[in-house]
Amino acid sequence: MVYVLDTSAILSGKIFGGNTATSPKVLNEIKPKGHSWRLLEYMKSIGMKVISPPEESLEIVKETAEKTGDIANLSDTDLEILALAYHLKATLLTDDYSMQNVARELKIDYMPIVEEGIKKKIEWIYVCSSCGKIYEKYVEECIICGGKIKRRASNKAKHL
Ligand SMILES: [Zn+2]
Repeated sequence: MVYVLDTSAILSGKIFGGNTATSPKVLNEIKPKGHSWRLLEYMKSIGMKVISPPEESLEIVKETAEKTGDIANLSDTDLEILALAYHLKATLLTDDYSMQNVARELKIDYMPIVEEGIKKKIEWIYVCSSCGKIYEKYVEECIICGGKIKRRASNKAKHL
């Protein structure tokens, strides 16, 4: 059994049996220090692979997400993770409703991560990749330097 993990699956701190994989863009979303980073390093140390999906799979996922209308809710990272799960015929681990919807359409197996009642919500921050300015809401480009904005999980995980 192969599992493909999205950012929230890695940050859940849960251990999934079998082989695990994630995609390069997920790594950009995890702050390179602190608890989140240690979880990522730990997952890699127990064998989680970082794999880029082939362009062909990415195209199929994009077309499907357009068809289902989920494309607007999906980041490049989400699309990459979906494409990887599709390519590896893996089980996708995600709590994201739009990703689950596209997975269903593509007949990708998926599983939610959190058990009911103990939902953990990720707070996203947006960071300029050039000057490091942090934005709480998504902006197209950095208002200071025009740099590229990357989404990243904040270290504060909120318990609902
Ligand atoms: Zn900037």
